Amino acid sequence: MGEHWRPVWAEIDLDALRHNARVLRRRAYPAALCAVVKADGYGHGAVAVAEAAVEAGASWLAVARVEEGVVLREGGVEVPVLLLSEPPQEAMVEVVASGLTPTVYTATGIEALGRAAASLGVPHVDAHLKVDTGMHRVGADSTDVMSLAAAIDAHPHLRLGALWTHMAVAEGVSSEDRAFTDLQVGRFEAAVATLSGAGLVPMTTHMANSAATIAVPETRRALVRCGIALYGVAPTPALGVAVATAAEPLRPVLSLRARVSFVRDLDAGARPSYGRRRPLAERSTVATVPVGYADGVPRRLFDCNGAVLLGGRRRPLAGSVTMDQTVVDCGPVGDATVSVGDEVVLIGRQGDEEITVDEWAGWLGTIGYEVLCGIGARVPRVSLGHSPPKGTALPSGRGNGP
Ligand SMILES: *Cc1c(COP(=O)(O)O)cnc(C)c1O
Repeated sequence: MGEHWRPVWAEIDLDALRHNARVLRRRAYPAALCAVVKADGYGHGAVAVAEAAVEAGASWLAVARVEEGVVLREGGVEVPVLLLSEPPQEAMVEVVASGLTPTVYTATGIEALGRAAASLGVPHVDAHLKVDTGMHRVGADSTDVMSLAAAIDAHPHLRLGALWTHMAVAEGVSSEDRAFTDLQVGRFEAAVATLSGAGLVPMTTHMANSAATIAVPETRRALVRCGIALYGVAPTPALGVAVATAAEPLRPVLSLRARVSFVRDLDAGARPSYGRRRPLAERSTVATVPVGYADGVPRRLFDCNGAVLLGGRRRPLAGSVTMDQTVVDCGPVGDATVSVGDEVVLIGRQGDEEITVDEWAGWLGTIGYEVLCGIGARVPRVSLGHSPPKGTALPSGRGNGP
């Protein structure tokens, strides 16, 4: 990754990730675990996460795009990699050549996949047929499942690797949400029965995301596809309480850290940053941190009263987040000694204090998924707990970041 002169980094605790993978595996047992590592492993670094998840017992990986699957293969990952949507027809040769497991749900997609398998002389490619049971994003209509499965089965180079579906409200706790989840399960079971009745038995079936794996045991089937929970973040804050109080709590994997780059004492009435949004009530110490919205710290974190940890204490922002820098109100002069090089925690733990991804999501009116995926490509990921000999230098305790 080269040198990083700017002291901002995301720490990725691979021991925590392995712990979460083991917890999810035990929860879902006897179902196998598919670790979802799309979007660069929800911002954690896809290859490092994939390796750690496989070490902890994941037997499948899943990504959204062909390109993401190729990155895993280039990184030396060998376990099956499921593509969660049907690849574009032009990508089917790459899919087969890279040994990725495609999802399909159109006749033209199945034809293109069959042609690619034949042209490369691959004896059989396992296609995972996706049926839409109510999410209404991608997937075959239940009335088309029979003909699509038959087309796969009839093709000399294809096999029906799986029938699968995706839940829309598995995290929901209302009776309406519960009823909809039941409806999806029922539709899925009907589709499996229709195929079986025609002698088309898929090699496996899967339907559970993290929320369903945790909260809806009957969705677990042979395989569960867990993303967010693997990263130690709950699908919703409500489920987070359940997860945190479980016998085996999940552990957060990512923390976002930086070091103070500049410190000043400013007079009462000074209004730091663009827009001069808020006057200091008294003469105060203001610290500048070299991280901004281009790194995934949203500009509106100031407006929604977001905070950071500095010196083991919560400190509010002193003004709007800018593209590359953020100003922190460290209180009245003399309240704390703040120096250039001090560690600032934006997400994670410092001393007894912690700011969680869910807390950010609450401030920003979003979900943990979006917070994690928003952490910018410009922020280096520093893995802790790499299996030897792949050790990565830890951030030094001095003024520089990693
Ligand atoms: C992203 C995704 C998952 C993982 O969802 P989590 O809620 O993060 O566990 C599973 N299945 C599909 C189809 C997805 O797109």
